[in-house]
Amino acid sequence: MKLFRCGDVVPGCAATFRAVEEDEILGAVGEHAVRDHGVQPDDAMVARVRRLVVVEPEP
Ligand SMILES: [Zn+2]
Repeated sequence: MKLFRCGDVVPGCAATFRAVEEDEILGAVGEHAVRDHGVQPDDAMVARVRRLVVVEPEP
């Protein structure tokens, strides 16, 4: 499972995204950015999110 924390990009945002595939996370993050931050994701933001996606250790 992969994990992205929006707070790594937007300080104070508590939203987290988990998915098996990085592309699923990017889709969800894109919707979240538009809906909750009023930001249209551009290539630089997508690249930043990709760098910050971490693989979550299995429990
Ligand atoms: Zn956020």
